[in-house]
Formats: sequence, structure tokens, C-alpha cells
Amino acid sequence: MEGKGKKVLITGGAGFLGSHLSDLFISKGYKVIAMDNLITGDISNLEHLFKHPDFEFYHHDVSKFVQVQGELHYILHFASPASPIDYLKIPIQTLKVGSLGTHNLLGLALAKKARILVASTSEIYGDPLVHPQSEDYWGNVNPIGPRGVYDEAKRFQEAMTMAYHRYHDLETRIVRIFNTYGPRMRLNDGRALPAFIGQALRGEDITVFGDGSQTRSFCYVADLIEGIYRLLMSDYAEPVNIGNPQEITIKDFAEEIIKLTGTQQKIVYKPLPADDPKQRQPDITLAKKLLNWEPKISRVEGLKVTYEYFKNLPQEELFKDPYGKKFN
Ligand code: UDP
Repeated sequence: MEGKGKKVLITGGAGFLGSHLSDLFISKGYKVIAMDNLITGDISNLEHLFKHPDFEFYHHDVSKFVQVQGELHYILHFASPASPIDYLKIPIQTLKVGSLGTHNLLGLALAKKARILVASTSEIYGDPLVHPQSEDYWGNVNPIGPRGVYDEAKRFQEAMTMAYHRYHDLETRIVRIFNTYGPRMRLNDGRALPAFIGQALRGEDITVFGDGSQTRSFCYVADLIEGIYRLLMSDYAEPVNIGNPQEITIKDFAEEIIKLTGTQQKIVYKPLPADDPKQRQPDITLAKKLLNWEPKISRVEGLKVTYEYFKNLPQEELFKDPYGKKFN
């Protein structure tokens, strides 16, 4: 098995992407430590791994000093709030995990001589003036807007990671993740897909922000995870876009969800949030060339699986407020 004798630390392990990564590494025979402070992660995403002999869970906030006993071969830093509502509700934690958290994990990677891959984002392109976005575009970010806490933390993260690579010769990888969807996304965190499906399942109208002409390009989670694994195993230290270039307007996307769920509800229009990017589409030329990777799962297929997942959640999940608690 590929992962035999190798140990990997996945931060944000109880989150949407972290839990899928944990599954992938376990399936390849790695020993996996999933670390999460459970602010936005959900332990139920990992429950199926708890009995696995190669799996461990550490309840820890990576913004504080991170300690792991013994050897470590890979670190994947996926801990971060990642939805526009998160940025409003937990802005300081968002800044800290991208900056202090990244610093702690780079230090750990250096101490363990581990290779580290950090999760960056299409948000570093801000409201892009270049379309589609390729890795050499520097972006158009408002540092002090509501999304600035995420965008700037992630930009700092990239700078810090490249500095460790250049100064310490650390083996680093940076993935720029575009909109991704699939099972285990958090309901009610304000992102478009869980918002629309949640509304359909509760029998509420579908809220489209602005006139719905803004675009996004949605990648199914299994495609993304495969791209991330290939990048980790490559020898390329600069950022690589991973996403699905199939672009759609949010209004058309809402209509797709209405059709898929068969809801009788209609679209209602709400104000566009501040700094909401008008367009977003990854240029994946580099990933294709470097990793021989491109997404394989169409939106029709991916949305069907995702809808099944949400439909089968316990009814009370549909009404849960993820921000019922207050965080320090
Ligand atoms: N959006 C929407 N209605 C919602 C939630 C989101 O119209 O209930 C829009 C949002 O304004 C944005 C797009 O859908 O233009 C994607 O939003 P999401 O929060 O999923 O991701 P991001 O803006 O970070 O790409």
C-alpha cells in the first residue's frame, strides 16, 4: 500500500474537506491524525473512522502550539472557517488559523522534516479582474471588507509558506481551491449550495443574492481530493489551482437545485453581500500539465449524490443554527 509506514496530520480533519482527506489517506494505508477544534468541524464526519487502528483524533486549536509525538511525513493544513457567514461570525479565529496556525504547522513540518500542503483558495484572487483566473494573477482583494479576514489570512499563508520553502528549503505545496461541494458540507453556513438545498428541504423560498448574474464554478469533492493528493505527491512548490472550470450563474444554479429537489418554492432576490465576487472560474491548465488531473464528475452527477446526502440527514439538522454557541 502506498501509505504503509507513513504518518499524516490533517488539520481541520473534522471539516468537509478534512474528513474526505482523512478517508482517502486511510484508504491508501497511511496512519492519520485528524486535528480539529470543532468550531466549524463536526465530529460526526469522522465517527466511521474511530475504530480504525490507523486513525487518531486530536481535539486541538492549531492557532496554539501544535505538538505531535513521533515521526510525521506529511501535514495537510485544512483548518479554517470557510464560508462568508463564518467570516462575519468568527473573524478573529479565521485570521488566526490562517496566520498563526499556518506558522505553527510550518514550524512542525520543519521540526519533523515533513512535507506540508496548505489549503489556499480562489478568494486570494478577490473580485477578479482577469477571467478565468490563472495562478499568475495577483488578485483584486479588499483587505478591510468582511471577506478580508479570510482573503488576507490566506494570502499571508501563501507568503509564509513560500518563505519557509525558500529560506528553510522546506518541502511545501499550495493548493488554491475553488468552490467545492459534496456530502458533509455544513448546512446553514450560508454557502449557496447547502443554503439552496436546505431551503428546498424546509419548504422555504430559494434566496438568490443580487440579480444572480454572478458566476461560480463548482467542483465535486472527490475530484478535488484526487487533485490535492496528486499535488502533494508532485515536486511543485508554487500554487496550483484545483477546481472545475464549468461556470454557471447563481440564478441558473438555483434553478438547477429547484429542478433537482422538485421544490414548489420560488426564487426570491436578496441584497448582494459586500465584495461578493462577480465571476470566478479556475484556469486549470497548470494542474492538467503538472498533475495530469482534471475533474471527472459532472454537476448533474455530483449534485444528485449531494442531494441524497442532505435528504437523508436527521430532520433536526435542517433547523440547526451552527452559531448557537459563542466563541472566544
Ligand atoms: N448566494 C446566494 N444565495 C444564498 C447564498 C449564496 O445567492 O443563499 C450567492 C453568493 O452571493 C455568491 C454565490 O452564491 O455569489 C456563492 O456563494 P458561496 O457563499 O457559496 O461561496 P463564495 O461566495 O465564497 O464563492
